[in-house]
Parts: sequence; structure tokens; C-alpha cells
Amino acid sequence: MPLTVDSRPLRLLVLEQDPDLRAVLQRELAAGFPASAVIPASSFGELPALLAGTAPDAVLASDTAEEPALGTLATAREAWPGVPVVVLTEPGNEDRAAMAIRAGAADFVLTDRLGRLCAVMLSALERRRMREHWEQALVALRESEERYSLAARGASDGLWDWDLRTGRVYYSERWKTMLGHADADVGDSPEEWLSRVHADDREALDAAIRDHLEGRVAHFEAEYRMQTADGEWRWMLARGLAVRDGDGRAYRMAGSQTDVSRQKQAEARLLHDALHDALTGLANRTLFMDRLEQALARTRRRADSLLAAIYLDLDQFKVVNDSLGHTVGDGLLVAVARRIKSCLRPGDTVARIGGDEFAVFVEDVDDVSQALRIAERIHEEFLVPFHPAGHEVYATASLGLVLTGGAYERAEELLRDADIAMYRAKRAGRGRTEIFDSSMHAAAAARHRLENDLRRAVERGELRLAFQPIVRLVDGSVQSLEALVRWQHPERGLLMPPEFIPVAEEMGAIVPVGEWVLHEACRCLRGWRDALSEAGEVTVSVNLSARQFSQGDVLALTDETLSHSGLPPSALRLELTESVVMEDPKQAARKLHQLRELGVGLDIDDFGTGYSSLSYLRRFPIDALKIDRSFVDGLGQDEEDLAIVRTIVTLAGNLGVDTIAEGIEGEPQLAQLRSLGCPLGQGFHFARPLWPDDVPAVLRAGFAAA
Ligand code: C2E
Ligand code: MG
Ligand code: MG
Repeated sequence: MPLTVDSRPLRLLVLEQDPDLRAVLQRELAAGFPASAVIPASSFGELPALLAGTAPDAVLASDTAEEPALGTLATAREAWPGVPVVVLTEPGNEDRAAMAIRAGAADFVLTDRLGRLCAVMLSALERRRMREHWEQALVALRESEERYSLAARGASDGLWDWDLRTGRVYYSERWKTMLGHADADVGDSPEEWLSRVHADDREALDAAIRDHLEGRVAHFEAEYRMQTADGEWRWMLARGLAVRDGDGRAYRMAGSQTDVSRQKQAEARLLHDALHDALTGLANRTLFMDRLEQALARTRRRADSLLAAIYLDLDQFKVVNDSLGHTVGDGLLVAVARRIKSCLRPGDTVARIGGDEFAVFVEDVDDVSQALRIAERIHEEFLVPFHPAGHEVYATASLGLVLTGGAYERAEELLRDADIAMYRAKRAGRGRTEIFDSSMHAAAAARHRLENDLRRAVERGELRLAFQPIVRLVDGSVQSLEALVRWQHPERGLLMPPEFIPVAEEMGAIVPVGEWVLHEACRCLRGWRDALSEAGEVTVSVNLSARQFSQGDVLALTDETLSHSGLPPSALRLELTESVVMEDPKQAARKLHQLRELGVGLDIDDFGTGYSSLSYLRRFPIDALKIDRSFVDGLGQDEEDLAIVRTIVTLAGNLGVDTIAEGIEGEPQLAQLRSLGCPLGQGFHFARPLWPDDVPAVLRAGFAAA
């Protein structure tokens, strides 16, 4: 059976000077490698032409004195590196053959043993094929190794390989450079790794290693901080796998280490953003509630410890925002946040929980006075003006304080009560602190009920209007009728405005109540004007609440109500308190002008109790200042009140508007007002607020006799 290497046609070169021997060799090889081309040559010099640049697969070269095999070998190896050369030698020249083999010949054949020729050639070819294979594999292996290390470097992985039997760890160069170390700086003990791990993370890392080595978890994975050469801490993620012996005992563990500091930072950033207010950097409501909940649990466990929570709301922040712009508003909030923080210890929690609302809680408070001192410090911080975006802004805050020894189950309940106390602080006049007590809770609950009842009161027709005449002091004739609302409460009887108007104002029910009052007042006047000739010129005065004026569309409501009642606009006067128009004078001026254009009268109620800017007052299109009852009260006895009333009357005269004195209860007051030249007044002296049925009689008779 002929010998073949594989199906590929081989090119076998035969170098033999002796033509007879060459022919024998040719025949032998052709028989052994039937599919091959046997190329005969007598010397190396002929080869280039014969082969035309293509290398043979193997060379059979005779070793003769004229052409020694060593020379052929050298030439062949240079021309065709890797091509096996088999040397043909006369018997007795074995030592020359051995030399040839040491010089790189693949094998040798003795001329008297030509029967072995093909087997020797085949073996040489086989070995060459094997070597090529192996070299290719080696190249492939090297390539894949390179690829791996490139990939490892690309993924920032350091590699480690821990021989658990010797206790030595191989750390890759990357592993070391990640930590800022040169290759030689790091030895091969496990401590090179473990001792650089943050003390707080060490226990978890040791446990993770143990758990994997002892087979409790399938993969080793741990995250920990590691200190770099320059002392910085970086977050690392290590992953690894143990190699086990037949008994399942780990004897080696290898894996990677990745620097995950940036991911960690990004995660921390995301977490931070989710729990903090972007503007002030303070905790947000979510984080505050979470921490408060935990603090409450702590407080409950400790008998002698108190927790104080403060709800803080900036007073009139809206005015700052609307008049100076949002940039200033934002700047103010940031500055307020900073100042609140400066009043607290580092461990206390401050949060921005709404637009201009902040919350604080402090643990381990001894008593109420310590809690109040914190609140006091916060108020003191507000004494110095703020300078947001170059503006000087004076601000105050209303604070609600809750002090608890752990009576609260839920953080929400505690915050709600602090909020209730804060509202009371606002109502009590801003810039102050109120402490929550359970009666407040009851009051808040009662207010809530009242609010609900009041909304239904409008639908159920429980509201009533009383009318109090506003009288011309010269002749006692009725100029206007002030509509004053009352609530016929099904259980509590007749309620006066102070009992429900402030609540309605706070909660929003004032809007439907106010609409009803305006409609009803106009309807009544319309009836009197139709029925009585004396009522032809009489007007009706309606009180507008702050919320109605600043939030509702007063203009549309007034216009619609007038056309519905069929009254001319001049039949209606609207009363606005001084504080309402001065809260946002610019906007007030705009609205007042619109109402004036419509043709209704405008009076400033309770004048003298608030702060008025004279420059604005001058620009408001108003008809009269109503002097607050508190100043009229003292007329006839109190010099100071007299001076104030005189000033207001003079001021009104200069502004070209009327004055209406409220609360005239007796003759001395009336006399004094007349002498001061006050043209109009109302009060019990003339008439108490009258039910509609009693109005016609008064309109007919007037108060000329008074
Ligand atoms: P106001 O607008 O200043 O009304 C005058 C208040 O003084 C009325 O109290 C009136 O009964 C009372 N009064 C009048 N003359 C005298 C007097 O000689 N002596 C004393 N001691 N009091 C006198 P009332 O009806 O209790 O109303 C209180 C406040 O409630 C009103 O003050 C007004 O601000 C508000 N109010 C009344 N009705 C309405 C309404 O329909 N809408 C709104 N938004 N507020 C209303
Ligand atoms: Mg009034
Ligand atoms: Mg008044």
C-alpha cells in the first residue's frame, strides 16, 4: 500500500549528482508518494529554475564530498525555512549524518537501506506538519491571550490568582496600577490585597471569600473600598471562582478586580438626587419622613428622650417671588436654608418639604425650653436682611413646634401637628413660634368640620345677610347698606362672621360664600330700589375677602352679578381691607382700576390697622377710607385716638376721598367726628345690623333725629 501524507500533491525535491542513484530515488519516492511531484536535481544551483520560487515540501539531499549535506542544509534552510531535509549517506558516514541532524536535518537514510526512504520521508513530513500545527496553535493561543489581556485592560480589570496551598497570590500588573502601585511594589501575599481594604468593608469581604471557599455560594463577589498609593479610597468590585480538588476542597481561587468608583458615585448621585431638594441641597420630604420615622422609633425606646420637630413657613414669600422675580425668590430660599442649618447641630435633619416650607427635627431634647431656644435662634437668623441676587429682603418665618416623647406612631402625624401649630403662628401674626398641644388638634379638627359644614351651608341656604346703614353725618340720611353675613347653624345657632370667616378664608370656602353674599346683597338692594322711592340712591357695600380679591376673578364676578341683578355698577361698593390691597400693591392697583372702570365704588376697610404705603394709596382709585372701629372707640376720651382719626380725615381730604367712621356707639363720638369733618359713619348709635325685613323702615325714616 502506497504511503501518502494526505490528498495534497506533495513536492519532493531530490538532490543527487549520480543519475542512476537519482533515478532509483525518484522511483522509490514516486511509488511511496503516488500523488506527488518528485523533482530531481543534481545540484543546488539548478533549483531556483526548477522550483520557480515555490518551496518544496521536503528535501532529500545526498551527502557527498563535492556537495556536503551540511552546505545543502544551510542553503535549504535559508531558502525554505521549516522545510524538512533528509540526508542520504553512504554507510560508514553515520557521524557526518549525525552532524547534519544536529545542524537541523530532519533525519537520514543510508544508501544501503533505501527501503526505509519513504518511511523516513513520511515521518519528516509528519513532524513538520505537527510542528506547523503546534506553531499555529501557539500563535492562536498567544493571540487569544493577548486578546484576553487587552479585554481585561479595557474593562479595567486587575487579575488575581490565589494559590491557597502556598498562600501566594499572583496580582496582575493592572491590578497594581489600578491602585497606583508599580509592579515591583506589591508582593504576593494575600495581605497585599486585604490590608488595603477599608476597615468597615473588611468583615464583609472576608465573609464573602469564606462563603465561596466553603461552598456556600457559587461565586465569590464582593464590593469594598481600597486605599490607593496616594491614600485615596476607591470602590472595587472583586469576582472570582475557586478551583477544587476531588474532595471538593478549594486549592486555588482566581478572579478579577474592577474599579467601580465611578458607578458608585453615579449611584450615590442618583440616590442623593432622589432624596434631596435640587435648589437648596437639603433633604427632601421623602428623606425627612424616612429619618423622622426612624428617629421616632429611637425616641420611643428611650424613656427620657424627647424629639422636637419644627415646621417652618416663610411669611409672604409669594410677595417676594411675584414682585422681585423667581431668581430672587430662589436665592432667598437658598439663603434661608443655609441660615436654618446654621442654627442646628450637624446630626439634625433639615428639609425643604414644599415651596417655602422647611422642616427640622432634633433628637435628644431635654425640655420644651431647649426646643424653644432652637426656634428662637431661627427667628434671630431672620433679623438680618437677606441679599438674594443683590436685593435686600427682610423676611420672617412662622414656626410650628411639636415636642414628643414618642407618643407619635407615624412621622406624618407629627408633621401634620407641627403644620397645625405653624398655621396658628401665622394667624397669631407671623414671625413667631407656636407649640402644638392637643387642644390645637381639637381646634384643627373643629375647623375642618366647620369648613365642611360651611361648604354645605351655602347649598342648604343657611347663610343670612344683615345690613348696617352707613349714614351721612350731616343729615342722618342713609348712603349705603353694608352687607354682613351670618350663618344660621343647624346646631350651634346664629354664628357671627369672626366665628367662620377666618376659617373659610384659610380653607377656601370663602369663595362660594363670597359669591353668595354678593348675589344676595345685590338682589336685596334691587328689591328695595324697586319698592321704595327713598332707596333710589342708596348703595350696598359688600366685603371682599383677601382670597376673593387676590385669587378669584373679582371683575368677572362683579360684572356678572350686577347684570344678573339689573343694578347699575354705581349701586355697588366693595370693601377691601388695607392689608389685602397692601399685600401686593401692584396687582391690587391693576384690579382696582379695572373695577373702577366698571363703575363700582371702592372703600378701604379697617383703615389704620395695617401699614399703608402712601404712594400706593395715592394711586389706588378709591372712594373712601373706613376708619377702624378701634380708633373711633376712644373718641371723646382718648387724645391719641383723636389725633389718629384727625390724621386719617386730613389724609383722606388730601387724597380727595371720603372717610367713613366705623363703630359709632354714642353721641360724643358722633359730635367729635362731625367737628373733625368726617362725612360718613356707621355704628350701633344709628343702627345695629338689620335683617332685610327691617331695612325699608330705616330707609324711609333715615336718622335725621340722631
Ligand atoms: P367690618 O367689615 O369692619 O364690619 C363691621 C363690623 O363691625 C361688623 O361686625 C359690625 O356688626 C360691627 N359693628 C358695626 N357698628 C358697630 C358698633 O357700633 N360697635 C361694635 N362693637 N361693632 C360694630 P360683624 O358683622 O361681626 O363682621 C365682622 C367682620 O367680618 C367684618 O368687619 C368683615 O370684615 C367680616 N365680614 C362680614 N361679612 C362679611 C362678608 O360677607 N364677606 C367677608 N369677606 N367678610 C365679611
Ligand atoms: Mg366692612
Ligand atoms: Mg371694618
